[in-house]
Amino acid sequence: MEDSLAPIQKMMLQDEAPKTIPAGGYWLGVLPKDRIIRLTDAHGNQAVDTLFFNADNFAERYSAMQTIQAQRSLYLTTGTVLRSESGQALAEIVEDTCGRHDTLGGACAAESNTVRYALDKRTMHSCRDSWLLALNTQFADLQLEKSDLSHNVNFFMNVPVTPEGKLTFEDGVSGPGKYVEILAHVNLAILISNCPQLNNPCNGYDPTPVQVEMRLQ
Ligand SMILES: [Zn+2]
Repeated sequence: MEDSLAPIQKMMLQDEAPKTIPAGGYWLGVLPKDRIIRLTDAHGNQAVDTLFFNADNFAERYSAMQTIQAQRSLYLTTGTVLRSESGQALAEIVEDTCGRHDTLGGACAAESNTVRYALDKRTMHSCRDSWLLALNTQFADLQLEKSDLSHNVNFFMNVPVTPEGKLTFEDGVSGPGKYVEILAHVNLAILISNCPQLNNPCNGYDPTPVQVEMRLQ
């Protein structure tokens, strides 16, 4: 048991200066229960594709359906409770200077880049590749695999639903220095891909860094 907990303990966030996730990079950390993390869109118009897990039981993952159904709203902002597949509250957005975040658009992948844009986009860097790289190298101790990559939140990303019920990728609603704060209701594992997408305007065609910072409650 201690062995299985050790990697989680190593990933627990400490109070320190903000970390920067470079453009196109990935990051994984565990936010202790009852603490707050701030994600800052340092340069503006940057999609931050984020997966959430209960760090004490990685089988409990974020669910877009449970989250949307419970709040009866398609977009995420202050007051949104991020729920797991069983409906449990994993975390809550407690402050948001951007105003709106997406959880319908999913994450970019070699496959979706090929279908949406062109066959020769297959080898372009994608969020799913970043997550898989994280899980197969730096965070291999967690023994997570492709099937653990489920629903995600796209912080700072604008994916409006049209009156016909379609999704469109639009220019970002965010701007330099806008931030979102998330309060953990469990020991919360957070896996971020700082989206490298270049084929649609979700990053303004120019991926930029984001900051991750643990805040005092
Ligand atoms: Zn992406």
